[in-house]
Amino acid sequence: MLLETPRTFRDRPININDQGQRNWIYAKQPKGKWYARRTVVAWIAIAFLVFAPFVKINGNPLMLFDVANRRFSIFGQMIWAQDSYLLALIMTTTVVFIVLFTVVFGRLWCGWACPQTVFLEMVYRRIEYFFEGNYRTGKPQKEMTTKIFFLKLAKHATFILVSIFITNIFLNWIIGPEKLWAIITEPIHDHLFGFVAMIALSLFYYWIYAYFREQVCTMICPYGRLQGVLLDSKSIAVIYDYKRGEPRGAKAKGDCIDCHQCVSVCPTGIDIKNGSQLECINCTACIDECNIVMKKINKPENLIRFDSVQGIETGNSSIFNARTYAYSAVLGILLVILAVTLVNRKPIETSMLRVSGSIYQKVDSVTYSNIYLLKIINKTLVDKSLQIRLIEPKRGKIQLATGQTLLKAQGILESVMIANIETQDLKGKSTPIQIGIYEGEHLLGVYTTNFLGPAN
Ligand code: SF4
Ligand code: SF4
Repeated sequence: MLLETPRTFRDRPININDQGQRNWIYAKQPKGKWYARRTVVAWIAIAFLVFAPFVKINGNPLMLFDVANRRFSIFGQMIWAQDSYLLALIMTTTVVFIVLFTVVFGRLWCGWACPQTVFLEMVYRRIEYFFEGNYRTGKPQKEMTTKIFFLKLAKHATFILVSIFITNIFLNWIIGPEKLWAIITEPIHDHLFGFVAMIALSLFYYWIYAYFREQVCTMICPYGRLQGVLLDSKSIAVIYDYKRGEPRGAKAKGDCIDCHQCVSVCPTGIDIKNGSQLECINCTACIDECNIVMKKINKPENLIRFDSVQGIETGNSSIFNARTYAYSAVLGILLVILAVTLVNRKPIETSMLRVSGSIYQKVDSVTYSNIYLLKIINKTLVDKSLQIRLIEPKRGKIQLATGQTLLKAQGILESVMIANIETQDLKGKSTPIQIGIYEGEHLLGVYTTNFLGPAN
């Protein structure tokens, strides 16, 4: 449809001016039912971010991404580095879910649940409104008085405190509450790296939320860039009903009076009337603001609303089409594979490596030995008393240098392991042997390796 009202389209990000400098966006505080709903969702998201590492399911944290120790807890399911296939499966499933979600609902995640938006819009910007008021109503402030200077100072001091808090939330997810507590309570020199990381992260968050702000969503985040390929005319997004609104203007026939209120409230500074744009995070602030305007001029609400281009054009906003069916089918298959894989996961994970540089040792006239490094991970939530036995050949002996066979729940047993094999069982330079890991008489796993011996 051709619009009669002339307008400009951008060839650069909205927050960069002709001289290539930053155009600061002074978004007015939204109000209305969508903002109220978003506030509830945001506080649920913040509560999840804060408390998820503390909540335990069968002894595992609800969420933990311990990259340094390569162990991850996702909804209480502990995943180790050895379960990389599982991690890959979870990531693939997540990506397909995100794609499906985006194809159907656009960039809803960004405006409603992404930690960047949640903290910026619901915490930092509210602090800003508290200290500086909503006086800007979408416009930059002109003069700097002593009172405003001190209010700004207080605002930035609060920003720094909140940034330290967010750093602690982040670290809880990465290292877990116990290690974070140790960094906080024990002498600094015992955790110098952790302490420096905390300061650096806090400064980083302060910079992001006080200075960089919406540019994370509009310039950095790769998810935003994907919208161009994921959205189509059937995707639901915040959209301006151009059929109803145009031609716009105070005295024009369309319902839009071109009051610019939807732009003044937009946290990314765009004009939704120009159509779907990469910078739109689907925050719904413009819906609320336009509804206020519509009420004032006695026109029906939802000139800007959640709808699809197809919905505006034909009145049919159905989200069901071949693409959503196809993605849903792929997602369903992946979820089934994931569930089966999780249920059938081995309770222990074993690795056995020959001690570097070692070949074989002659113990006595009939026995040779090889030395290995044994590592067993207990992936279960119960302690295990293990026995390591030789399965093949039948004769021979296995000894652990540590002598330890108790493996704590989710613990790791690392030991030098000596295998003694009799000469008559050797098949030349390399003989395959099988080692069984037992709990009582229950065989938990079999490991096959090679035993080196003298050439016949
Ligand atoms: S707030 Fe509504 S009426 Fe005002 S410019 Fe935006 S779309 Fe038009
Ligand atoms: S255009 Fe509307 S929904 Fe999109 S970011 Fe701006 S205010 Fe939010």
